[in-house]
Amino acid sequence: MATVAGFDILMYHQVGPFAPMREHRATYCHVDRFRAQMAWLKRLGCYVCSLQEAWRALQAGCLPPRAVVLTFDDGYENFRQYAWPVLQEYGWTASVYLIAGAIGGRAEWLLQAGHEAAPLLDWPAIRALRREGVHFGSHALHHIRLAALPPLRQRRELQVSRLRLEDGLGEAVTEICYPYGNHDRVTLEAAAEAGYRLGVTCLRARVRAGWDPLALPRKAVSYGDSVLGVAWKLLCKNEPKHPAVMRAGFVAAAAA
Ligand SMILES: [Zn+2]
Repeated sequence: MATVAGFDILMYHQVGPFAPMREHRATYCHVDRFRAQMAWLKRLGCYVCSLQEAWRALQAGCLPPRAVVLTFDDGYENFRQYAWPVLQEYGWTASVYLIAGAIGGRAEWLLQAGHEAAPLLDWPAIRALRREGVHFGSHALHHIRLAALPPLRQRRELQVSRLRLEDGLGEAVTEICYPYGNHDRVTLEAAAEAGYRLGVTCLRARVRAGWDPLALPRKAVSYGDSVLGVAWKLLCKNEPKHPAVMRAGFVAAAAA
């Protein structure tokens, strides 16, 4: 295990009793595997905390060893049904990233890829989860690739989603998760301008002090990951594939 201080952000999407699947496995995790993965984190002595707590502790030089942040993209209803009860058993929190323009709707964007348009959390469920300790962040206004948009639309996606979520939650929203992990320099500037403090991507690495706080790397957990698979990602996959992204905060088009 690396000795340089850092923490890991695990990325989940849907958790549930899914039938075995051959395709499109990246964004699903069977609830039994999820339960086993959480039990393993507990046995390993991981310190599961919010993203804000982990980042602050890293900056202050007091990060506990094996700190882990759990994130769930898109805000699926199955988070409430299957993932959160498991996390509650351990007294752990998580960050859930909501599409502000699709609260209480369905994940229509999945239809294009041949997936079912799974139901998304509605406001009563979101507020109840918040009271129980879940942290919520923005996943933009629509589930689209931000870097493909003109700068003004990127700003609108980031600003309006933040305002809508703050209205609904009655508190500041400071985390942004870029849909598909897609972002460029304009996105990062727009995120800072909109008032976000922490942003997460799909770049795979361990978070260390040198990372841009608006472009933090994560480690994705997919349907095929057993406990061993997650262990391997958590303990071994710590360096970014392209070291320059640590400073730049994004993958240049040529390297993507
Ligand atoms: Zn997403």
